[in-house]
Amino acid sequence: MEDIFALSDSLGPAKVIHVYQPHLGLKGVLVVDNVATGPSIGGLRVATDVSTVECARLARAMTMKNAAAGLPHGGGKSVLYADPQMDPEKKELLIRAFAHALRNEKDYIFGPDMGVNEECMAWIKDEIGRSVGLPRELGGIPLDEIGATAFGLQHAIEVAIEYCDFSLSGARLVVQGFGAVGSHTARFLSQKGVILVGVADSKTTIHDPDGIDVEELIRIKAGGGSMLDYPRGTKLKSDAVIDIDCDIWVPAARPDIVHKDNVHRLKTKLIAQGANIPLTPAAEQYLHAKGVLNLPGFIANAGGVICAAVEYHGGSQTTAMQDIRDKISANTRTMLEEAKQKNILPRDAALDMAQRRVMKAMKLKRWGIF
Ligand code: NAD
Repeated sequence: MEDIFALSDSLGPAKVIHVYQPHLGLKGVLVVDNVATGPSIGGLRVATDVSTVECARLARAMTMKNAAAGLPHGGGKSVLYADPQMDPEKKELLIRAFAHALRNEKDYIFGPDMGVNEECMAWIKDEIGRSVGLPRELGGIPLDEIGATAFGLQHAIEVAIEYCDFSLSGARLVVQGFGAVGSHTARFLSQKGVILVGVADSKTTIHDPDGIDVEELIRIKAGGGSMLDYPRGTKLKSDAVIDIDCDIWVPAARPDIVHKDNVHRLKTKLIAQGANIPLTPAAEQYLHAKGVLNLPGFIANAGGVICAAVEYHGGSQTTAMQDIRDKISANTRTMLEEAKQKNILPRDAALDMAQRRVMKAMKLKRWGIF
């Protein structure tokens, strides 16, 4: 296993906590990366193949995302080693026990990520009083239900199109991952005239150059059906989604999906990262050299955490949506202008912006990163 200190730098991580309760089958990790700008907010991910290193990298992405969005929150992340499709009673027990074990870690506010939903956030709120992304009944703004992240992604794409040689209407879209982020992104963009030509979940890819009916696919999935139940298009293996010719490619599944060994297969002009760190640094360098515009997740997918922060501070859904649109549009433009002027990767331009803010905040704290 990679030593966590090998990943450490001047920004963090401040704390790494392993939680283990063998009699419950509970195994989880919390990484609080940096809280110079305020208590960390970051999602809880439930999956069988998570790791401490993945958790630390995602926590860093949250530090950058929250700083870039100008939120009074640092970055953290938690992972639970478990099958998200497990028996619901067992899932509730594990999530409550994990939250209870972390009840004194006030530097971390739980939010939703893969494998959890608003109900899970409600259990945590009930257990320790500290979570965001709550159901409406508890005063929350259900960010996955309203598609907060996808709404931000749409605005990042609308700005990025000005730096591309095609227009949004009629553009061909491919989405990898058809969960909260992927399905809402396909929905919002199809309302702008974009044509979904490829979509994948963890098992299947659907390819249809004539366009996939987004609403029909959402209905099928919501009714418990699978991609195979969609009546048209060609059905392919899940990873074939990377080969589909398109104008906009949106990864909305897992980290490191695109890496040095498969990046050459992508045939797209614009990538908007719905997922966190879906491309490795080598893959991003390769695409930059090829002239593919690539919007990093910590700028483009900040809609969910902006919404969560608005909820945490007592704001309304209307305020959240305005903040998402304003902050993400402005950040995308600043990032792309700087990247163009300096001929650097958009990620490097945005990192510079976010790191400056974190470092300034650290100077104002006695203990720096925490
Ligand atoms: P989700 O659990 O609702 O959906 C994930 C989707 O990805 C599912 O359709 C699943 O089948 C699919 N998937 C998993 N592995 C895959 C693979 N190898 N190939 C293709 N598809 C695969 O999750 P979500 O909330 O939509 O989040 C998706 C990504 O976006 C995650 O990386 C998450 O960290 C990131 N993200 C989510 C939010 C949010 O608001 N939900 C905010 C920021 C970033």
